[in-house]
Amino acid sequence: MINNLQDTITLDNGVKMPGFGLGVYKVEDGNVVINSVKAAIKHGYRSIDTASFYDNEIGVGQAIRETGVPREDLFITSKVWNDDQGYERTLKAFETSLEKLNLEYLDLYLIHWPVKGLYKETWKAMEKLYEDGKVRAIGVSNFHVQHLEDLLSDCKVKPVINQVEYHPHLTQTELHEFCKKENIQLEAWSPLKKGRMFDEPAIVDIAEKYDKSPAQVILRWDLQNHVITIPKSVTEHRIIENADIFDFSLTEEEIDRISGLNKNERTGTNPDSFDA
Ligand code: NAD
Repeated sequence: MINNLQDTITLDNGVKMPGFGLGVYKVEDGNVVINSVKAAIKHGYRSIDTASFYDNEIGVGQAIRETGVPREDLFITSKVWNDDQGYERTLKAFETSLEKLNLEYLDLYLIHWPVKGLYKETWKAMEKLYEDGKVRAIGVSNFHVQHLEDLLSDCKVKPVINQVEYHPHLTQTELHEFCKKENIQLEAWSPLKKGRMFDEPAIVDIAEKYDKSPAQVILRWDLQNHVITIPKSVTEHRIIENADIFDFSLTEEEIDRISGLNKNERTGTNPDSFDA
């Protein structure tokens, strides 16, 4: 169990990834992203989730350098965007991300979406980057069971992470079970459903019991479900609040009650009907 911001989960290839991190989707490049990443690291976060698509890798990289925390103590994730999929393009996209971040390696590189007809070629490039030591772990995002089965059927290196939309309204039970069986760690994107489920009575009720906020209850539920979580905030007091979840524990009954809120409701695209 993750007991603090620096606690890690050991991925299938032996790499240790913090169970909790900061997401920076839609965070403006420049001062906004620099300040939020620096605030997060100052308050103990060690994992940052960006993507070429977020267009803020330059600011993320600058923030990393300015914090003074040794590079090896941080865990940096980026992703290859849909337009860059295919073998050669992925290799190039990776180099562009590294340059923008001004880093020598990434900790985790993900295929952002399973682009039909291309994601297997893309994966070959991910394997090459991994074998060349440019990235410590490779994984996928928005892959459903069918995509994973297809990829696992002929890959040299298995994905160690699947980052998917996951929150109490979308618990992805079948996918989670499949990932557990394959030792693919699930990571939650939009863990707070982009702030759209804080008024859910069961969550409010549990939050009151522990004198915590609904956001804190949801993030704690992620960790107790062994799901890595990367909530986004650009506001320092929320960055602190979101990580202040290590002084209480949900009961099994409360975990089940929150999981029971599932209604397979997405804020984003369904990977099954996704067409890049
Ligand atoms: P989220 O569920 O983390 O919600 C973030 C929003 O919730 C904030 O913008 C803010 O409005 C609100 N919020 C945050 N903390 C709060 C608090 N304590 N109290 C009240 N409101 C609060 O949404 P997200 O940014 O979509 O997801 C998190 C991260 O996941 C992203 O930043 C990104 O890194 C990643 N992501 C990945 C994909 C993918 O396709 N792989 C897609 C979306 C997001």
